[in-house]
Amino acid sequence: MILIADSDTAFAEELVRELKSLAIDAQVAKGGEEALQCLRALVPQVLLVALGNDSGLSLCSALQALPEVKHTPMVVRIPDGELASLPAAIGAGATDFVLTSDSPAIVARRLACAMRSAHRIKQLDEQCSSLVLSQRIVRMGHWEFVVGQDDLHCSGEARRILGLDDGSEDLMLDDLLSRIPIDQREGFNEWLNSVATGKSTSPLEHSVHHVDGNFRVVRQDAEVLCGLTDRRTRVTGVVQDLTERRQAEAKVQFLNEHDSLTGLANRQQFIERTEAALVEARKSGAHPSVLCLDLNQFKAIAGLLPDRASDMLLVAIARRLRDGLREYDTVAHVSTRVAEASIARIRGDEFTLLLPDLKRAADSVRVGRRVLDVLAEPFEVDGQEVYVTASIGVSSYPADGQSSEELLKRAETAAYCSRQQGRNTILFYSPSMNAKAVERLTLETGLRRALERNELAVYYQPRIEIATGNMLGFEALVRWRHPELGLVSPAQFIPLAEETGLIVPIGEWIMQTACEQCRQWQDQGLEPIRMAVNLSAVQFRQPDLFDSVIQILRDTRLDPKWLEMELTESILMQNPDQARKALQQLKSEGIHLSIDDFGTGYSSLAYLKRFPIDALKIDQTFIRELTTNADDAAIATSIILLGRSLKLRVVAEGVETPSQLAFLRVMQCDEAQGYLFSPAVDAKEARRFLDGTRKFHTAA
Ligand code: C2E
Ligand code: CA
Ligand code: CA
Repeated sequence: MILIADSDTAFAEELVRELKSLAIDAQVAKGGEEALQCLRALVPQVLLVALGNDSGLSLCSALQALPEVKHTPMVVRIPDGELASLPAAIGAGATDFVLTSDSPAIVARRLACAMRSAHRIKQLDEQCSSLVLSQRIVRMGHWEFVVGQDDLHCSGEARRILGLDDGSEDLMLDDLLSRIPIDQREGFNEWLNSVATGKSTSPLEHSVHHVDGNFRVVRQDAEVLCGLTDRRTRVTGVVQDLTERRQAEAKVQFLNEHDSLTGLANRQQFIERTEAALVEARKSGAHPSVLCLDLNQFKAIAGLLPDRASDMLLVAIARRLRDGLREYDTVAHVSTRVAEASIARIRGDEFTLLLPDLKRAADSVRVGRRVLDVLAEPFEVDGQEVYVTASIGVSSYPADGQSSEELLKRAETAAYCSRQQGRNTILFYSPSMNAKAVERLTLETGLRRALERNELAVYYQPRIEIATGNMLGFEALVRWRHPELGLVSPAQFIPLAEETGLIVPIGEWIMQTACEQCRQWQDQGLEPIRMAVNLSAVQFRQPDLFDSVIQILRDTRLDPKWLEMELTESILMQNPDQARKALQQLKSEGIHLSIDDFGTGYSSLAYLKRFPIDALKIDQTFIRELTTNADDAAIATSIILLGRSLKLRVVAEGVETPSQLAFLRVMQCDEAQGYLFSPAVDAKEARRFLDGTRKFHTAA
């Protein structure tokens, strides 16, 4: 719409008609008052104001002062002889003029032009402000300077990003340079030069220091423009603030490289650091070494702690390693200082250290000892004192491996063997370790899956009353049908299961299976027999042992009197008072209890009397040479006598020959078990014993 403020009614009407023919709306106001009133209802795109008297000029000023039409083009209509008043009109806001002699048709076309360019300007304006807004959102600004001149034009956002928004109007290139850290200035200048000379358009990343201490990372993209309107060469650039993005990336990288629980480096990071140390060592001749420390019995310890406390323990261990290995050992010539970044937790309870610049591989022992010392003091976790010991394995470049993976693997192997030799040992890798360790590792991984994959089975070995030849029960013995290794002996995998804590679910499964089998035979109408199940030390220490046994008996509907639990002396002697209470609880349910491998430990007779047990099982090592070795015969005899005096039944294990049996019969041993009668057999074969007479030949 065009507003026409002109008292020349004839002209105004003619003009409105002309405009209409150009499809432009117009409104006529006769005087200033009326014009201002019109503005309240509608905002025009162009104003036409007739001059010729003072009121025209003052109307111009009044319109110019209104915010709605401040930027609206204002064309003045000047009488032909009064062109001299044009400057005053421009001062009052006029942007163009027509003469009174101009025909309405011409004036209409001039107004149409003004309207079109007003529209264009408005569009540009809008684009410009949305550009400013989007640049602010993406934290991007632009700048420009003319090559050869030093003044720099920066958008508001560019000023903010570069720390140049201190209010000064004129900026120089030097102002920007002064914000760039000294060591990056030369790089910036070189980059700017190569952009200005058209050699490069690649971006540059650098930092800027703001006066308030704020520090930003920015990316600059720039191009050279050869002047369109003049012959000057300009460089125009876009600066983007990458600080937040870089911080987020750094955080992601930290998380990628570190163990989230302890904040130590993770396996990946450790491998990379080791690789870097190897690169150095190839030049310097150093012997970088990898120490792998394996926490002994960690699973068992963790099992005794409340939820999350084992995590707290790992965090505490990490902290100790970090703090304890930080200081220099000034007395010895070898430093035991290990940079924090060289300590890693590579999995569960396995920590590693990298000693990047050892002169001699043997020096790593000092660090190993220091680690053991650092861990020796008890940890306080959740109000409990916890003792942690470690086994350490060491591998060194170049003797034990050429790559970081190889060194790490071999240090792990050495740690594995070190654990076998007892706690607090430090072992160097040797090639002979490998085969054994690999076998154990294969077993360990396999064992984790054995339960799920149904590879475990329970076998049953009969127990016979010597005096009558009657079969009284079975001992349940677990078997592992390994998919590649065949039948693996429990003597091999039970210790492994104990170390890894897997014995708890495995042991429960065995007891469940044996109890279930025992009751099934009863359900099939067979005369009940007793089922003896072995209990590992780790299981015995579980606080919920009693509950889980009761639960199994309930689930399988087996009367507790048909269950016997075999425990070793060492289990009972570790904490006799506690053991006695636990046994009493089980006993009070009617469960039978026996001491397995009797004679190999060092039971205190005093305690033995106080344990509510039913039977002693003479360890098979004494039975093996019973008839040829006088010492063994004496031990077996005294166990039988001891049992009799304490009113306990005595069972001889591993009876293989008739002469062994004859000896036991003469000594009035109560029961026997061994290959002479039968090895442990699967459930199907065991049932055949139950179907028959259940009698074995034991008479002389
Ligand atoms: P153990 O409890 O002393 O079991 C007796 C071992 O002697 C069994 O070996 C059995 O097969 C074997 N044996 C039986 N009669 C004879 C014989 O006449 N001569 C010889 N030389 N050996 C005989 P196995 O089944 O290999 O078990 C070895 C050990 O593994 C067991 O010793 C026990 O400590 C452990 N174990 C086996 N099954 C389980 C189980 O279900 N749970 C737990 N916690 N430990 C188990
Ligand atoms: Ca046993
Ligand atoms: Ca035994």
